[in-house]
Amino acid sequence: MPPTQSPGTPDRSLATDPKVAEALAALVTEARLASRWAGLSQASDMAHKRILTSFLERGDPPGIEPFQADVLDDLSRRDLVHVRDGKIALAYPFATDRTDFFVSVAGRPALVTCLCPVCRSPTHVSLSEDGLTIKSASKPDARVWTGIQEVGACAADSQCKSMLLFCSPAHLDDRKYNQPADPRGFDLTLQQGVQLGAAIFGPFLQRHIREATS
Ligand SMILES: [Zn+2]
Repeated sequence: MPPTQSPGTPDRSLATDPKVAEALAALVTEARLASRWAGLSQASDMAHKRILTSFLERGDPPGIEPFQADVLDDLSRRDLVHVRDGKIALAYPFATDRTDFFVSVAGRPALVTCLCPVCRSPTHVSLSEDGLTIKSASKPDARVWTGIQEVGACAADSQCKSMLLFCSPAHLDDRKYNQPADPRGFDLTLQQGVQLGAAIFGPFLQRHIREATS
């Protein structure tokens, strides 16, 4: 029998690009995985699945009513789900608040739109069916900046801040010059960014899709 694997374990086999493999190792450490997933109770696991499935299928979270408060507290401590003002606001990697990333999962292939943090211009990226390859990009030279930093109180927010898509190398440079200290992170091409995202989010999202459709 294979060892029980944390649902959050990234699929390192997808990181075929050496730079992506390096970024993945820096971003997803054992300590980080353990703080999210170790000892997840069945009740928390079920609740988490139900919340993610709702985001995936309807684009919205469910209400909090069906969930026990201690289960939601546990998911919040693990930085997997956050409740704000009595509503589920975040379930890593989904958020109800407007972010600079818009992902359309209803249609296939998926269409991703990201706003450049410097000039706010959008980059539209259309992905292959398996989510691993870019079919087209409105700005092929866009750069994905992946900052290496500790996750704060909120995963979906902090991921949004630490993974940024710049419309051009020049705008990524602009941002770097405006940082107080030399920021730690990886400057990735769009394709490298897609590969990194697939390796991190693919395993647990696919597990939900598989279980929801079986
Ligand atoms: Zn820009």
